[in-house]
Amino acid sequence: MQEYYARLYTKTAPEFYNLVDQNLKNNKRMFIITANPETFTYGTKEEVMHNMLLDKNSTLIPDGIAIVKTARMLKYSLKERITGIDLATHLLEECHKKSYKLALLGAKEEVLSALINVIKTKYPHIKLVKASNGYDTDYTNYFKELTKLQPDAVLVALGIPSQEKLIYEHLPQFNKGIFVGVGGSFDVLSGTKKRAPKLFQKLNLEWLYRLFKEPKRIKRFYNNNIKFVFKIMFMPK
Ligand code: UDP
Repeated sequence: MQEYYARLYTKTAPEFYNLVDQNLKNNKRMFIITANPETFTYGTKEEVMHNMLLDKNSTLIPDGIAIVKTARMLKYSLKERITGIDLATHLLEECHKKSYKLALLGAKEEVLSALINVIKTKYPHIKLVKASNGYDTDYTNYFKELTKLQPDAVLVALGIPSQEKLIYEHLPQFNKGIFVGVGGSFDVLSGTKKRAPKLFQKLNLEWLYRLFKEPKRIKRFYNNNIKFVFKIMFMPK
């Protein structure tokens, strides 16, 4: 597990966004993995996830607060948390500013339609080249079409680890584009679900807000976060 921590981006969020913007401008390819305990746990269980986390083509950012805290426990110096939802928002802003081509994949059809409306009104300069939901889309065809469309940014919202695996599988077909798996971000960006209030965000308690709102997440949270933190705490040094 330690080897995954060693790959985490350590600088500040603005520095990271700057790197992303430079890559966008220079038509570079980038695969960003928003790391949280679930991601690392999959890495220990599935070979493809393990390889992906160590692949030099992957950039890992510390998305979950449990990753930031445990990284510090393990003496990795991370400047701050960089969340998937903030990165997704940044990408929408940058694509709007520079009229870049954007592609979306994931979430329910009604969520996706709501997000398309938000993009049309709030980020009108974005060239939205493709948008497909995450329930009845042929992913092979989707990515085949993307290779012709050459988007600058691709946001995939299917949840961990499907979104990462799908990107990783198709990445070799692309020479440019910022690819990110953004989990439940479309639900929030579309206005379908509320993000935790600012105070919760500031106190790094977004996870608590999410558990209040969606109690069915408690089991998943316990298995992936509580157990994970204990595992790291008692890991032989
Ligand atoms: N999703 C999807 N297809 C599926 C399963 C999930 O498009 O087969 C979407 C779901 O609608 C949601 C997102 O993937 O928008 C995952 O959200 P979740 O909050 O579970 O992700 P997390 O942020 O916790 O990884």
